[in-house]
Amino acid sequence: MADFDAKSIVDRSRAAFNAGKCKSLATRLEHLKNLYRMIDEHEKDFCDAMKRDLNKPYTECMGYEITLAKNEIIGYLENLSQWVKPERVKKPLFMLGQDAYIRREPLGVVLIIGAWNYPFQLTIHPLIGAIAAGNTVIIKPSELAEETAKILADLLPKYLDSDCVQVVNGAVKETTALLEQKFDHILYTGNSVVGKIVMAAAAKHLTPVTLELGGKSPVFVDKNCDISTAARRITWGKFVNSGQTCIAPDYILCEEEVKDQLVQAIKDTLKEFYGEDPQKSNDYGRIINERHFKRLEDLLQGVNVAAGGKTVIDDKYIEPTIVTDVKGDEAVMQHEIFGPILPIMIVKDADDAIRYINSRAKCLALYVFSTDKNIVDKIQHDTTSGAYSVNDTLMYGAIDTLPFGGVGTSGMGAYHGKHTFETFSHRRACVVAKLGMEAANQIRYPPYSEKKYSWAQWLMAKKPKREGILGFWPFTLLAMIFAAFFAKKVMRRGRGDSGDRPSIRSSL
Ligand code: NAD
Repeated sequence: MADFDAKSIVDRSRAAFNAGKCKSLATRLEHLKNLYRMIDEHEKDFCDAMKRDLNKPYTECMGYEITLAKNEIIGYLENLSQWVKPERVKKPLFMLGQDAYIRREPLGVVLIIGAWNYPFQLTIHPLIGAIAAGNTVIIKPSELAEETAKILADLLPKYLDSDCVQVVNGAVKETTALLEQKFDHILYTGNSVVGKIVMAAAAKHLTPVTLELGGKSPVFVDKNCDISTAARRITWGKFVNSGQTCIAPDYILCEEEVKDQLVQAIKDTLKEFYGEDPQKSNDYGRIINERHFKRLEDLLQGVNVAAGGKTVIDDKYIEPTIVTDVKGDEAVMQHEIFGPILPIMIVKDADDAIRYINSRAKCLALYVFSTDKNIVDKIQHDTTSGAYSVNDTLMYGAIDTLPFGGVGTSGMGAYHGKHTFETFSHRRACVVAKLGMEAANQIRYPPYSEKKYSWAQWLMAKKPKREGILGFWPFTLLAMIFAAFFAKKVMRRGRGDSGDRPSIRSSL
């Protein structure tokens, strides 16, 4: 890309944004409908591209890329006109009569940098929320998923206004040039090393970032669970897309007594899913490129392979592999694996698992398989992670009402569903006051006085809530009055007193 000019690309987006070209609700909805049409009319083309990039099975492409994106758009079409409405907020007493509300406004020019493992979903999902929020968008798909990047660059301009959405294809050089420009928000998906580069570049312009990073997502398998069901759900979550899923279970922690049964159950499941030879299975993917293939092959050096282990460089094939007798300081436990290698490390109990998890960087997802509520609650309480999922893997990512994102080193910010719209919107605080009743404002204007001060205090200062029953003082007061009334009645009945006031006449 010799003639790559990042400045004019961003200038074009900025000009469109400043002209309000992509801002009206009607334009946003139109764009979303066109995006839906693009996906609908070309889903096979997209899946063919992902087949060439990752040998992604058609079912996985439709399930985790195409259908999720279409669902996301339908959710936006159904809800966007509500979400853009001003959100009225509670006001303090002294603001009575004034209008206070939050208005969601577009941020401006947004840059979306996608990753290669779900090359369609990871660019289209953020794009949906960014255009729905009224921004102009530049997307930079991952160059490693070359075929998907090409088709995105080819089709998006045919369905969306290119002033509002531009696609830039390129690698480090082009991304670096883009990052020198000023954006109003950057959403980056990828590894944390590049995440730091993106954040440093954004800091120069005080541009906010959403970083969707990775890390080692653990699974704790408790002895109190159905091991064979746990094995199926873990096997699926780990080996879908050949382990190249950001929220894939990275490694398993379990007690010694569980290990053999678990290893056998995973082996049986692998056979059921991918047959005797997964290389021949239509449902098993490939490693994205030789660099990642070699990185994964190196992780297998000197480890105890309990199943799998076969690697074929010409086919970028790595067999689903289980590694046992793993120690915390081994290479396979140092960095995110991001491939079809599943280490199993022995812990003494749930507390030991918690200690190990907490000694590592904060993870994107933490999975627990257990029927013991105490263990499930304890691990949730004593750890942190982007997401916490019990007795299943990956599926939480399909619940678009949940924020999808990391914590600490696994990322910052979140998206999916309405959360994407929020990520790409500025929540502008708006107050519309009336010009009348100026006399009431005298108490806030100088010259100050004791009297003004006490009025201001009475109107403005909040009182801490009292704890316990006394906190409900009107209720307590009423209850005391009733109690007194009934006590009096009962005492009079006891004395044979009707309670009627004695007349002066009768006492004469
Ligand atoms: P990648 O190689 O596709 O890189 C991501 C993007 O960064 C690409 O668009 C690339 O062009 C750009 N890039 C690469 N080097 C750069 C540089 N020096 N300067 C500027 N831009 C640069 O993807 P990857 O990093 O290999 O992705 C895998 C990682 O992403 C894993 O850690 C995975 O867990 C994580 N991931 C996270 C999520 C999530 O939603 N949290 C999703 C997918 C992947």
